[in-house]
Amino acid sequence: MKLFDLTGRVALITGGNGGIGFAMAKALGEAGAKIVIAGRNQEKNNQSITKLQLLNIDATSLIVDVVDEVSCNKLIDDTVAHFGKLNILVNNAGTNIRKRPEEYQLDEWKSIIDTNLVSMFTCSKACFKHFKAVDSGKIINIGSMHSLFGAPLGSAYSASKGGVVQLTKSLANAWAKDNIQVNAVLPGYIDTTLTRQARIDIPELQARVEERTPVGRWGQPDDLGGIAVFLSSEASNYVSGTAIPVDGGYSING
Ligand code: NDP
Repeated sequence: MKLFDLTGRVALITGGNGGIGFAMAKALGEAGAKIVIAGRNQEKNNQSITKLQLLNIDATSLIVDVVDEVSCNKLIDDTVAHFGKLNILVNNAGTNIRKRPEEYQLDEWKSIIDTNLVSMFTCSKACFKHFKAVDSGKIINIGSMHSLFGAPLGSAYSASKGGVVQLTKSLANAWAKDNIQVNAVLPGYIDTTLTRQARIDIPELQARVEERTPVGRWGQPDDLGGIAVFLSSEASNYVSGTAIPVDGGYSING
């Protein structure tokens, strides 16, 4: 369907070698986009590219540490050097350290904000001139249920993910006249490396999420593919500044 066709578009996904990022990269590639996977771990990057190429997706990987502005700027420029342009940025790289507020070292707390929030600003800013060069752009920022809720073991994570929603609104406002749409996706509880560790740290989490989620199950990374294609495509050209939960109904169950 043309509305959702991404043929000829170039999409960059930070953290694209991980659970949600890879699923989004795959969905965008299957919709026709050329894909750049960006992560720190070369081996994970290589494995992801091999999987995408088996699906006949035109994909390459680049190394980035999203907390480093120089590294982010190089990533964006190298993406454009490789594929000639950039149309879609998925700010997905993220991390967490679970501790009670009084137990964090300040540098740990700040490292979560830098990875989950500051990196989105850095990468988005670096994309601006390249989006201007093609008169359009799409940015998808990955928030969380913790964009909405607080957590005793997640003060830094919640602060970062709450900030993602406000940053999304601000960039959407600032760049609307440049034909750049900026939206956030708020995944529910998705089965990835990140939440496998969470279920070790919080043993009751598995059952608690199943009980509260109306559809009665954890999400799988592929559950995020559809929203990534929608927010990257012409179908969403009048959608900007939103924060869309993809959570099996978790956030509407009081
Ligand atoms: P994963 O651990 O599978 O993926 C995290 C990704 O982030 C990896 O690809 C990792 O790449 C990358 N990454 C982390 N730090 C950096 C860094 N400094 N520089 C570059 N890349 C980095 O977890 P998820 O797929 O679950 O998480 C993806 C996003 O989804 C995160 O923003 C997370 O907060 C969010 N999210 C996840 C939910 C879930 O239930 N799983 C729920 C809500 C939101 P590498 O290993 O190469 O560094």
